[in-house]
Amino acid sequence: MIQINLVKKLFIAIVLIAYLPLNAGAWGMTGHRIVGQIADYYLTAKARKAVYEVLGNQSPAMASNWPDFIKSDSTYNYLSSWHYVNLPADLDQHGVFNFLDTDKQANVYNKIPELIAQLKDKKQTAGQQKMAMRLLIHFLGDIHQPLHTGRKDDLGGNKISVTWFGQKSNLHRVWDEGLVDYQQLSYTEYAAAINHPTKEQLAQWQHTPLKDCVYESYLAANKIYAATKVDDKLSYRYNFEFVDLMNEQLLKGGIRLAQILNTIYG
Ligand SMILES: [Zn+2]
Repeated sequence: MIQINLVKKLFIAIVLIAYLPLNAGAWGMTGHRIVGQIADYYLTAKARKAVYEVLGNQSPAMASNWPDFIKSDSTYNYLSSWHYVNLPADLDQHGVFNFLDTDKQANVYNKIPELIAQLKDKKQTAGQQKMAMRLLIHFLGDIHQPLHTGRKDDLGGNKISVTWFGQKSNLHRVWDEGLVDYQQLSYTEYAAAINHPTKEQLAQWQHTPLKDCVYESYLAANKIYAATKVDDKLSYRYNFEFVDLMNEQLLKGGIRLAQILNTIYG
């Protein structure tokens, strides 16, 4: 009898563990893959060949999560500040540009041009190029997640606790994964579903300087901050209000990533 009870308890424990929600990092797994998948649509044949070669025949979508995976290895701790840029509140465009020009910290805005230069440098080893490529793909995603251009005092919304459909969360996490996962689409379905820029949007987004990409993300972050207070209960209404903004940021991220890669390998 005792043994049967133990088996029963073990079985219940295993079932419970299997249903615990998984915890992921920035933009979540799906958000980064959507950006990678959209970029794949817009690569020239020449650039696609080069990108897949550098990645060892991996797609940009699947390569996009590696910079989050390596957070589990302390060897890579030096990369942790590369995922975001913290900006003070209430800056106008000039203030944001000025901040970006003078901020000497290793941040996502400073590192993207360095990674582009590394990929153009033929003296880099295959291993160095692969790492730079995976980081570049990931950071083009991060720079379009508005709360990766958020404020320092609340750690980009990480310190703003909220609930998301009744579950304890924080504002940063809602934007990394809650809102994306709520749409219940795979990354390929998602990328296909939002890949409908107008001609004007496409032309504009393909030629946005990096500084303006940060400024757009900063403006989006300001809207998000203004709409949310600590301990807000976010659910249906929040999705209704912000899903279009989020989809546009994901689409822009993918289109701009492709443009950068097409320029490197064009
Ligand atoms: Zn990241």
